[in-house]
Amino acid sequence: MSELFLYDTYTRSLRKFEPLSSGEVGLYTCGPTVYDYAHIGNLRTYLFEDILRRTLAFNGYTVRHVMNITDVGHLTSDADVGEDKMEKGSRRTGKTAWEIAAFYTEAFHCDLARLNILEPDVWCRATDHIAEQIGEIRCIEAAGFTYQTSDGIYFDTAKLPSYGYIGRLDITGLEAGRRVEMGEKRHATDFALWKFSPPDQKRQMEWDSPWGIGFPGWHIECSAMSAKYLSVYFDIHCGGEDHIAVHHANEIAQTEACHGTRLANFWMHGYFLQLDEAKMSKSTGEFLRIQSLLDRGYDPLAYRMFCLSAHYRTKLNFNWESLDGAVSALHRLRLAVYGWGDPGTALPDKPYLEKFTEAVNDDLNMPRALATTWDLVKSDLPDPVRKATVLAFDRVLGLKLAEWVPQEEPVRAEIAELVEQRRQARAEKRWQDADVFRERIAAAGYEIKDTPQGTQIARRTGA
Ligand code: AMP
Ligand code: ZN
Repeated sequence: MSELFLYDTYTRSLRKFEPLSSGEVGLYTCGPTVYDYAHIGNLRTYLFEDILRRTLAFNGYTVRHVMNITDVGHLTSDADVGEDKMEKGSRRTGKTAWEIAAFYTEAFHCDLARLNILEPDVWCRATDHIAEQIGEIRCIEAAGFTYQTSDGIYFDTAKLPSYGYIGRLDITGLEAGRRVEMGEKRHATDFALWKFSPPDQKRQMEWDSPWGIGFPGWHIECSAMSAKYLSVYFDIHCGGEDHIAVHHANEIAQTEACHGTRLANFWMHGYFLQLDEAKMSKSTGEFLRIQSLLDRGYDPLAYRMFCLSAHYRTKLNFNWESLDGAVSALHRLRLAVYGWGDPGTALPDKPYLEKFTEAVNDDLNMPRALATTWDLVKSDLPDPVRKATVLAFDRVLGLKLAEWVPQEEPVRAEIAELVEQRRQARAEKRWQDADVFRERIAAAGYEIKDTPQGTQIARRTGA
């Protein structure tokens, strides 16, 4: 079996993965801030983490996966000013911050299930771990890394020489750039560990502490909960690429200040999903979520297939045309796999298994793993062997290939196939053929629209 290599953001290098203690891998993935639904960009990051987790299991490791739920302390600005996203969500919807957290946590579970993302072994809510966070802050305070301002307890980043290494931060440049947002902070990179409740306003989420009534800063929850459920130093810590410069730099600083050790052996980050080259952001309130795809008749696993088509360390642009490509690819794969029947007693084909393993073990190279899957489809191996092999691949791909039966497939896949054929016809300037495909799509009750973002299809109203 080939060795597993993973890209470690901390050292900016591909490193051979070996667990800190034999056989078991501690994995911590920063979870959602539950003031709104997850968008498909957020879910790209959770899909990458799911592939990582499955790859670790595929390599024979037992994984202990911990994910937090941020239900307090994440402010609208990373500079520790602005409103708590939960309290803001509460004003927007008229529900309490607690109700909102419960509602969107449930919606998040539902999205994970729709994408066949494995549930973590431990879910931990920030609001259930206030005592642990206070303990961690006290520890940082005792080590001499904190100071108090009129609105909270802050981490003095200048006292930690290694601060910001993970982001390769140009601290002098930041000082100049962020002066406006600094308030009473001593340095631009200093961050809140504990924020006091505003004197004139009762917050919905607030707790007593040695420093006064308030709430924890966003970063402390991950240091406190990863230490509790894994250990102060564990194997792999993940998040989206936006976490590198601030959130993860701060988590590392907290743990180093308090425990005098590094936080995690590997740091891995998923690159962003973009929509028409623009950043997809929850805070603008305009984004696509899994339900948006379902509303247009898409199978959520087609989105999983779409994400598998790009390496997690490349930006991925979302458009409907590419999603349609994933729909038809998934349909073709499902049909082939279904057609191979029962694997019986057949074992996976060793050379194919080795090729697939080499791809996933090469820093989760899923485009290559998929190419190997298509080679298997085209191969002349006996059907039961192909079936046994693809089902082994699916332990990582997570496309539920064993469960699919043709009659469950929505008409969408055939339409996507027609859309793809029309696209090819247009690319080759076969305009008459393209028109024929358009008519066939219309005859099936779908309307096709060419937009700058690609081709979109929708059910014709009244069809
Ligand atoms: P949040 O709920 O905003 O705390 O974000 C949840 C996760 O999604 C974090 O790991 C973010 O880094 C990640 N994320 C945010 N926006 C995107 C995006 N457009 N594409 C991929 N991941 C993202
Ligand atoms: Zn975190």
